[in-house]
Amino acid sequence: MAKVAKLPRQAMPEQLPEDRVQNFDEVPYGYTDELAMLEAGRCLQCKKPKCIAGCPVNIDIPGFIALIQQGKFAEAAQKIKEQNALPAVCGRVCPQEEQCEIKCVTGIKGEPVAIGRLERFAADYERKTGIVAVPPLPPKTGKRVAIVGSGPAGLTVAGDLIRLGHDVTVFEALQDAGGVLVYGIPEFRLPKEIVRAEVDYLRKIGVEFVFDFVVGRNATVRELLEEEGYDAVFIGSGAGLPSFMRVPGENLIGVYSANEYLTRANLMKAYLFPDYDTPPIKRHCVAVIGGGNVAMDSARTALRLGGEVTIVYRRAREQMPARAEEIHHAEQEGVKFKLLNNPTRILGDERHRVVAMECLRMELGEPDSSGRRSPVPVPGSEWIMELDTVVVAIGNKPNPLVPRTTPEIKTTKWGTIEVEPNTMATSVPGVYAGGDIVSGAATVILAMGQGKIAAKSIDHYLRTGKNPEPPTAKDQTDQKD
Ligand SMILES: Cc1cc2nc3c(=O)[nH]c(=O)nc-3n(C[C@H](O)[C@H](O)[C@H](O)COP(=O)(O)OP(=O)(O)OC[C@H]3O[C@@H](n4cnc5c(N)ncnc54)[C@H](O)[C@@H]3O)c2cc1C
Ligand code: SF4
Repeated sequence: MAKVAKLPRQAMPEQLPEDRVQNFDEVPYGYTDELAMLEAGRCLQCKKPKCIAGCPVNIDIPGFIALIQQGKFAEAAQKIKEQNALPAVCGRVCPQEEQCEIKCVTGIKGEPVAIGRLERFAADYERKTGIVAVPPLPPKTGKRVAIVGSGPAGLTVAGDLIRLGHDVTVFEALQDAGGVLVYGIPEFRLPKEIVRAEVDYLRKIGVEFVFDFVVGRNATVRELLEEEGYDAVFIGSGAGLPSFMRVPGENLIGVYSANEYLTRANLMKAYLFPDYDTPPIKRHCVAVIGGGNVAMDSARTALRLGGEVTIVYRRAREQMPARAEEIHHAEQEGVKFKLLNNPTRILGDERHRVVAMECLRMELGEPDSSGRRSPVPVPGSEWIMELDTVVVAIGNKPNPLVPRTTPEIKTTKWGTIEVEPNTMATSVPGVYAGGDIVSGAATVILAMGQGKIAAKSIDHYLRTGKNPEPPTAKDQTDQKD
């Protein structure tokens, strides 16, 4: 190690909490050129960079950071794009603190290099300046691939396959591309304009999008292969089926799944209020159930729609699965937390509208199968909170439509699609899957990582008619070296 990072990690300027709860604009402003170069100067350019091992898509992290330090911002963006088709998205929503940054050596004695913020800076520079390099494309192979779903998994496969000369069509059930990136993650965390720019780039290099097309209803996977002439199919249909608490009163007016709530807010443009009015979700006293990122997004959205918001979570703060930064932002903005509480029933009035929720206090017991201490009810501790909206954010499962309509595709007992993990091949030849439909609700970068593996396998299949051989024990040892 040649030098020691003496500068502190550079903070990203951001909107003040009292201002940002009044709008849906993005909270952080991003680095200026000067801040980015200062932060890039903290990287030690390690000979064996540990940060890369933490990145599910193997970005050349010291490589792009060195380019930022030299003021070559557009080149830095291109370096990232060698491995990651959606850097402006990942720079904003990836849990870097658990991936690349946790491995960064400067974090041993101080704070890690802000890799995510630098990734975001380079990608934003490229977008804002319009210096977007369109790579030279190889001659067409004449092979056609259908992609089910336009979330990060589907977009990654589309980008990789079009660059390999194949024709790619993405079939999307909704009217917009991006999956959770557009209908789930709110504008103040990931502006839609950024996802649109990434999608426009894919269009520019030849990817075709078909909207309002539900695979399983308009055509099955089998029909895409046998009647529509596609040579391979990738299924990236995500995990969009919400879980509910199964307590009395969950069907009352004013109870939403987080999916529905966020989709209404995002796709019905509640974030542009007062120009767009979305009365069904503009309420005053809101409880959000859950402790993950989806709960934080719902709570912060409700706050911006003018509500008093309380998060109700059955374990303690240490067990909350949300990113620390998201919990911090929610607290700063005025979201209240009722931890160690679990709803037992939701109460309505004579018009079937929610008026209150009964909760039971909990205490922490022994660790459960997730490794976290389990919530144990405190008998007789029921209490009532008055409210007019409940948003249930306790998890999502895969939608069974695609495998159900092509039953030869094997699924697990959780409803996820079974794949061979080195190739992402399903039980049906020529059909691959990746992202949340395989892992269950996970992360953007994991969906993209699986998309990259699938794209490589699909390319191999289209050229040879076979899946790639799984790696040998020797290959795996070589990779570790
Ligand atoms: C509110 C929220 C916040 C999140 N925040 C983060 C975060 O900060 N960081 C992070 O890393 N991850 C986050 N996640 C998780 C992350 O968004 C997902 O893991 C990721 O989007 C999964 O990508 P995917 O491509 O597998 O599926 P999705 O993004 O779910 O996309 C699937 C797409 O397939 C379409 N589709 C489904 N069925 C069909 C069909 N039959 N025919 C055609 N199209 C179909 C859907 O409409 C959708 O557009 C969040 C999730 C939510 C819900
Ligand atoms: S980001 Fe951290 S681990 Fe990676 S090369 Fe720089 S100092 Fe080393």
